[in-house]
Amino acid sequence: MSLSATGGSVTAKIARMEHVVRSTIWPYDEDGEPGDFYYARYAHPTGAAAERRLGELEGGDALLYASGMGAETAIVLALAAPGTTIALAEGAYWGTSVLFRELEPWGLRFVEYDQTKTPPEAEIVWIEAPANPVLTVPAWEALRAHRGLVVCDATISTPVYLRALDEGADIVVHSATKYLCGHHDALLGATITRDPKLTERLRKLRGLAGITAAPDAAASLLRGLDSLDERVRHQTETATELARRLGEHPGVTRVRYPGYSGVISFDVADPRAVETRTKLIVNATSLGGVTSTMESRHRWEGDRIPAGLLRLSVGLEPVDELWADLEQALA
Ligand code: PLP
Repeated sequence: MSLSATGGSVTAKIARMEHVVRSTIWPYDEDGEPGDFYYARYAHPTGAAAERRLGELEGGDALLYASGMGAETAIVLALAAPGTTIALAEGAYWGTSVLFRELEPWGLRFVEYDQTKTPPEAEIVWIEAPANPVLTVPAWEALRAHRGLVVCDATISTPVYLRALDEGADIVVHSATKYLCGHHDALLGATITRDPKLTERLRKLRGLAGITAAPDAAASLLRGLDSLDERVRHQTETATELARRLGEHPGVTRVRYPGYSGVISFDVADPRAVETRTKLIVNATSLGGVTSTMESRHRWEGDRIPAGLLRLSVGLEPVDELWADLEQALA
């Protein structure tokens, strides 16, 4: 990625990295009026810098939250009301469906639908591009024709492979914990919108609910975005090759891979045996880091997904070392 694409000179980048501002308060001006920053729950300089850069990449106005689930909660609390129906992509991130179920006592209605087809009537359509872990991709044309608000979870695509606002989404949401930060060491969420009214509604809810991102996590995003392009392109190359080899392995009955990014899901007879035999690939949850991780999703999601499904998130280790690890685990 060129320096101009990452937002400035080397000096500016170093200055940015060294300035994690942890203060929670800033003085009012000479007239006693608050400036852009006065109390960190509403906004802080490190968060604002990271939001600017993510917004440039996605082509909209970004807001950062304490986690991806924090961002999702903000969207629902800010934009749904009792009686609102959300149509969620089947096989999308499990936690999202659990959150919506938890909010049903508040009057939220929630249905799941096949995102490769036309969405049902709903005030909000919530897609995932691609869905984690079944890796389906949404039917954008049908979504553009839908009258509801379209929320796209683009965690796995990242803006390197998808600018969902350009495709017709109204709100992009990220678990920035994953590819955007990229090192399994920061918990962070983001929304991006082009409609100033939506942005302000979300900003207000975020501040009042206190689900603002911490400055250190925002700084991790600035660091992560510096290498995002290189990381995910490298992960795509490795994942493409591993998906091909897995497809030829006699112990694997099905491989899902959308052709970009680093997440593959594949089915085996005994996923627990395979996941616990890996040595290089860490048997852990989450995805999108420089370290490869793999887990059976059945332990969390039950029969919502195939019992034999393993989700592999490819990191930056050499492809032949990853394959050797998978081969011995599958043996
Ligand atoms: N969206 C997707 C696609 C995810 O995979 C996750 C977490 O696994 C989330 C949202 C929630 O993000 P977080 O864990 O940062 O709260």
